[in-house]
Amino acid sequence: MKSWHEVEVPTIDSSFDFPVLQLTNSASGSKELLVSKPLYRMYVCGITPYDATHLGHAATYLTFDLINRYLRASGSEVRYVQNITDIDDPLLERAKRDGVDWTDLAHQQIDLFRSDMVNLRVIPPADYIGAVDAIPLVTAAIQELSRINSIYSVDEDLYFDVHSDKQFGKRSHLSSDEMLRIFSERGGDPNRVGKAHPLDCLVWMSQRPNEPGWPSPFGMGRPGWHIECTVIAIKYLDPDSNDSALIDIQGGGSDLIFPHHEMCAAQAEVMSRKPLAATYVHAGMIGLDGEKMSKSKGNLVFVSKLLEAGRDPMAIRWALMKSHYRTDRMWTDELLVEAEVEINLLRSFLSGSLVAPTASLIQTIIDSLANDLDTPAVVQAVLTWSSQSQSGGEQTDAKSLLTALDTLLGIKL
Ligand code: ZN
Repeated sequence: MKSWHEVEVPTIDSSFDFPVLQLTNSASGSKELLVSKPLYRMYVCGITPYDATHLGHAATYLTFDLINRYLRASGSEVRYVQNITDIDDPLLERAKRDGVDWTDLAHQQIDLFRSDMVNLRVIPPADYIGAVDAIPLVTAAIQELSRINSIYSVDEDLYFDVHSDKQFGKRSHLSSDEMLRIFSERGGDPNRVGKAHPLDCLVWMSQRPNEPGWPSPFGMGRPGWHIECTVIAIKYLDPDSNDSALIDIQGGGSDLIFPHHEMCAAQAEVMSRKPLAATYVHAGMIGLDGEKMSKSKGNLVFVSKLLEAGRDPMAIRWALMKSHYRTDRMWTDELLVEAEVEINLLRSFLSGSLVAPTASLIQTIIDSLANDLDTPAVVQAVLTWSSQSQSGGEQTDAKSLLTALDTLLGIKL
């Protein structure tokens, strides 16, 4: 699958000090320093191509873009891979509801997502892989899991025995009741007759009438959701056998903690006897005007609609950075208006003749990002600098700040 256009990232002055990045690891529940490395492997779960790109998506990809930018600016390389779930029940259900061909819907939504990511200046993944393209990897992984007795069939479908992973559940920390409830809400089938355990997850679904299918050693069918990410992450990030985990960061929205990331981690652990990721990072959910934003409520706010209405993509980024990435938060139009005012003020100072000193501000931005992406502290520091510049600056050259805002925050003014 074609990724989106490269986003130009300027080089920051090497005189700044880059502390080792700290991130909250959802698996441990605590803030942890990343191990300092020349190369990081990061996998972020992509969209299922319908309802793209709502602000919840934007907040998630912005979070991992900030991580990507920080690690690169600090001198490391980042190998970044993302999938796209271009075949799954929700996509087929949406296409059926709207009376459109599912492939047309997927292509149209993938194009929209790519264009939104470019407008938001999100650095593209090196590999952007569709589930359909990953079918040979999925079937090979199922055969491998089958050899170690982790797969069984129910009718013509294949299931992964989650308890073949002794660590199952240890990354998401939920009770059995919570796991069952959330599994059911998020695409699982705990009540299917014939399963060995209600939480076992589907890895291969045999072709249903009037649904697409692809040939495999197990007959015509299509992959389950979780196994797709497991195999794409391992294949395209090409783990280093000296590392204690297969990849450095697995990321996504907090609604992926369970079952999706727990299932991926369990499958990878059984196949490789190693943790899938050293750090699991999750972005909070975005609500609208006091309500949870969801497709069922029909209150999704789309990036493309905001852009069509002439809203500033840099202000959308800025507005999302006003809260910490891990918090569930509300989106309001007032928030975007406030961000637009602040971004315009910043633009005018950066094009003016005299501004407040910039070096200490840039170091504060770096230090705040290093502290678990503390973007509210970044926003506050920039606003303080703006008001200092308003009351009379002493420095004539703001170019280094313009570069830093672009390199570190993706804010190009
Ligand atoms: Zn995923």
